[in-house]
Amino acid sequence: MDIINPATEELVATIPAATPQDVDAAVRRAAEAQRSWSALAPGDRARHLRRFADAVDTHLEELAQLEVREAGHPVGNARWEAGNARDLLEYAAGGVERLTGAQIPVAGGLNVTFHEPLGVVAVIAPWNFPMPIAAWGLAPALAAGNAVLLKPAETTPLTALRLAELALEAGLPEGLFQVLPGAGPVAGDALVEHPGVAKVVFTGSTAVGKKIMAKCAAGVKRVTLELGGKSPNIVFADADVERAAAAAPGSFLDNTGQDCCARSRILVQRSVYDRFMELLEPAVKSFAVGDPADPATQMGPLISAAHRERVRSYVPETAPAAIRGEAPTGKGFWYPATVLEGRPEDRTAVEEIFGPVAVVIPFEDEAEAVRIANATDYGLSGSVWTRDVSRAVRVSRAVAAGNLSVNSHSSVRYWTPFGGFGQSGLGRELGPGALAAFTETKNVFIATDPLTEGT
Ligand code: NAD
Repeated sequence: MDIINPATEELVATIPAATPQDVDAAVRRAAEAQRSWSALAPGDRARHLRRFADAVDTHLEELAQLEVREAGHPVGNARWEAGNARDLLEYAAGGVERLTGAQIPVAGGLNVTFHEPLGVVAVIAPWNFPMPIAAWGLAPALAAGNAVLLKPAETTPLTALRLAELALEAGLPEGLFQVLPGAGPVAGDALVEHPGVAKVVFTGSTAVGKKIMAKCAAGVKRVTLELGGKSPNIVFADADVERAAAAAPGSFLDNTGQDCCARSRILVQRSVYDRFMELLEPAVKSFAVGDPADPATQMGPLISAAHRERVRSYVPETAPAAIRGEAPTGKGFWYPATVLEGRPEDRTAVEEIFGPVAVVIPFEDEAEAVRIANATDYGLSGSVWTRDVSRAVRVSRAVAAGNLSVNSHSSVRYWTPFGGFGQSGLGRELGPGALAAFTETKNVFIATDPLTEGT
């Protein structure tokens, strides 16, 4: 597989793709490593994960630079991403010793609940946040006593491969965490179908997520899905409109809009609509687009030529737009920041474009804002801008999405649960419950008085 720098179209590396035979061998090695890993004392497992986190921390800059080259992310963002992988490993290490069961004394015996590891877990990751999303599955799965096989996206396997090397250097057992770069329908599918894989954690498109869920059903395999989004950014007239307009560009342009939480539908109360658009224009146009290696850059290219064609199929660069930013010409998969004015039912307002494109839609009142916000099959994130705390709570409760923010666009905090309503996903990642999602709960009754039944 050729790995191409999306900003320059230069070849970064050529690596072999995993075959179904490679997947089978990896599952066997992982199962063996998992047996001894799960038998380690919790404190020892935690220590291994802390060492792994330290290794990531020591190599933070190297990992970030690799991300810049394989994904075209601005270096500031890439540093945050490597730091997020480190934070996840540290956070999960802290959870190992807290993954305690429960015991209830009952008449005639003892009733004990255990959280058993699942075994071998497959993590199938996308290209938009290669390191964080890999770590969201990897860290809690390892902490709960499982082995992990990570299938990175075709375009971004290099940081994943480097993470696996760092895990070995940090002393994690051979085979416990393996990376299988390869094509989704080949290596990814082989993992999903393999009877030795107990759970699949998939992050990617809703279309592929549905296929994976259907395949997992055949073996009642455990599955967590983090899928697409079309998240609303709702600006009420009683908001600080200056702040809302200043914050809006980052919420759909960060990561060039290739963000499942991108606030790509901006709903603005009609009485402040014109003022908001006046403020939004300079904010969008001053968003710094260019060389990802430059620390001042805020937006890089799209991931690939094929993805740019997909974005263009929604909005060609020549289509009329309310606001359009600049983008470099020449080599690289560049696409300009684009703001459309539209209606709730427009295709660009309901389908995920996964590029730097937002649609602005006016609304009259709170009820209409909620109705438009909920008028998609997705339900991942959303923002509410208002100075009225009652309204903030009311609207946050009424919007059908897993992660809401008020007067902010924050979506992912590793210490709180993250995931989607509706077709945005199934299950939750991150937060204090993350380890439990990689366990089976088992209850054991131990009779101490053979004449009673433990009631
Ligand atoms: P994708 O679904 O094409 O690919 C995701 C991963 O699945 C890749 O590793 C790919 O190789 C693999 N894959 C593809 N087909 C497969 C198959 N048949 N069997 C097994 N694995 C297969 O998505 P993408 O283009 O890489 O990512 C973009 C999409 O992901 C967007 O729709 C975006 O919203 C979504 N996404 C969601 C989240 C979230 O947390 N909810 C995060 C990031 C991306």
